[in-house]
Amino acid sequence: MSRDFDVIIIGSGAAGMSAAIEARLAGATVMVVEADGHLGGATRNSTGVVYACNTSTQKEKGISDSADATYAYIMTLNQHAIRPDLIRYYCDESAAMLEWLKDKGVEFPANMLVHSDITETQRGHTSSTFGLGIADALINRAGALGVETALGTRVDGLIVEDGKVVGITADGTNLRAPSVIIATGGFGNSPDMLKKWYPTAAYHGDRTWAVHRDAPFILGDGITLGESVGAQITGHDTGLLNPTPCFDSRYVEAFLPPWVIAVNKEGKRFMAEWDSYAVTGYLMNEQTDKRCWAIFDHPTMVANGDDLSYADPYNSGLATSSWEEITITREVEKGVAFRADSIAEVAKLAGLDAQAVEETVRIYNRDTQAHGEDRLFHKDGNGHPLTPIQTAPFYAVEVRAAIIGFTAAGLDINLDCEVLDTKGRVIEGLYGAGEVLGCFHGKRYAGGGTSIGSSVVFGRRAGTLAAQHALSEAVPA
Ligand SMILES: Cc1cc2nc3c(=O)[nH]c(=O)nc-3n(C[C@H](O)[C@H](O)[C@H](O)COP(=O)(O)OP(=O)(O)OC[C@H]3O[C@@H](n4cnc5c(N)ncnc54)[C@H](O)[C@@H]3O)c2cc1C
Repeated sequence: MSRDFDVIIIGSGAAGMSAAIEARLAGATVMVVEADGHLGGATRNSTGVVYACNTSTQKEKGISDSADATYAYIMTLNQHAIRPDLIRYYCDESAAMLEWLKDKGVEFPANMLVHSDITETQRGHTSSTFGLGIADALINRAGALGVETALGTRVDGLIVEDGKVVGITADGTNLRAPSVIIATGGFGNSPDMLKKWYPTAAYHGDRTWAVHRDAPFILGDGITLGESVGAQITGHDTGLLNPTPCFDSRYVEAFLPPWVIAVNKEGKRFMAEWDSYAVTGYLMNEQTDKRCWAIFDHPTMVANGDDLSYADPYNSGLATSSWEEITITREVEKGVAFRADSIAEVAKLAGLDAQAVEETVRIYNRDTQAHGEDRLFHKDGNGHPLTPIQTAPFYAVEVRAAIIGFTAAGLDINLDCEVLDTKGRVIEGLYGAGEVLGCFHGKRYAGGGTSIGSSVVFGRRAGTLAAQHALSEAVPA
């Protein structure tokens, strides 16, 4: 076949640029095609936490960890309903992946290592220059290696000959290569895709929005392109939804303040409110009508509303909060949040079972007053003592897990990153990596950083293997 490049990569985030670097290092000529006017995708806007185990950064901090322990954790969290081959590979490769990023100039200081999952081990490696630093480092290295790029070019088709993918089309232009890698990211900005592939997110209607909003082409093109050549789409209704109060808020919020309790429509608590977003959003969406309400009192809000440390345990400076007095007061005046002089009254205003809310608050107050702890859910107070909810006025604020942190439905691949069709067969010449995959995350997000981490791990692998495939194909004289 004729070729313009050995490898064409669609999308320039962590997955696409990692693939580009490795494909180039393997000796391939590489073109990265990007719909947006600049490189970097959603990766460049991200917090830049990378999930990895048994790393030099952990060792520097005296943390002992292993790929075995991490693998066991992710498998158990997902009740084994997740791909062991991909998870094993990720756990085994994550330390090398972190060193590889460090080699490109990304720094992961030991003092920025955080708990980003729900184990006792810190595996969240925060880049000192956040997602932008990761994206820039990859873009710079790819550029230095001679990777070519086309900006403002939205790929709209795949060229197939003799059952093999041999190139792409974009706005009437054909570009040919024996290997094509789809690295187009997720689909959080597409209401239609959400409806089809992430109905739990779509359920929240116009309250749902994606943190990917500044990357306008996160529209699920990779799914459409894959489907056009018979690819299996998997991971239906999976992803990450973070809590947001039901104001007109578009803040990136991943945590609830530890000083509120969250009750469901039946007036009962159901989680430790300051737990990781690896679990809270899922628990909230399991409640009646996928809704819950934060209950708190006035003095606690006044004392803590401006303390944003709970919202940003990764010290990224990106997180914001809707829980300051000025915001809550404004929302009460608009009739969106509720305020009353008793717990029963505020519960009634919010449409909750008032007696149950009273009992829930009574138990919480008893435990925090008498024991200084939340004996029911063992909530962490983020370094602050947990305080009873006892001084009027009281508030009820509806909260939903509706901020899309990432989407996890998409392409199915084998361990060699080759895209599979609906019969489980390899679609020759087509590779996938990054958020466009539907086969990696499972039902439960293992923890902050697995999205960028897996984008780099499988982006690298896709790049190497796509290059080998392209170079093994005979080049016509
Ligand atoms: C605010 C924010 C914070 C986050 N924080 C973290 C974090 O700390 N840790 C973590 O692990 N994850 C985080 N995430 C999620 C993470 O950033 C992404 O899941 C990951 O970076 C995806 O990488 P990717 O390479 O697959 O896709 P992206 O980086 O999204 O890149 C995909 C690229 O493909 C392009 N594209 C799409 N369609 C086409 C087409 N048809 N033709 C050409 N180009 C196309 C897009 O324009 C985009 O540039 C965060 C995301 C955001 C937005």
